[in-house]
Amino acid sequence: MKATRTQTNTNPQTSSMEQQLRNAGLKPTLPRMDILRAFRADDRAHVTAAELYLEFQRSGNAIGIATVYRVLADLESHGIIKRVQIGNGKARFELANTGRHFHIVDVNGGEIVELADQVLLARLDELVAQEGYRIVDLQLNVYVQPV
Ligand SMILES: [Zn+2]
Repeated sequence: MKATRTQTNTNPQTSSMEQQLRNAGLKPTLPRMDILRAFRADDRAHVTAAELYLEFQRSGNAIGIATVYRVLADLESHGIIKRVQIGNGKARFELANTGRHFHIVDVNGGEIVELADQVLLARLDELVAQEGYRIVDLQLNVYVQPV
């Protein structure tokens, strides 16, 4: 007989994050939940491990830098986040399920904007298909300056 769950979680975001981690095969530990929450809080974020760590320090969360690196590696290897290489070569991470998009990167300020122009993305599919391929991953960064 299936055990009845006695402790009900009333926060829908927390239970949805727990479910997401479990579905990916990960135990919902506190650091994993904290880091997933940070990504979900800003689903357009492209953060480095160091930036996440500093953000946690500022908010009084005592999570260690080594834990941040380890959790990012866990979330990446289980398909929840993905690594994006932008600009200076530092690994940045974003949620993996944000859909196909490309980035424009401000070379002065470092701001990263996501664009998902369907006409351009469809054209890329066409061009690749003409060569006999299909796109399996898309990492396109356009480096810009304000005008
Ligand atoms: Zn992105």
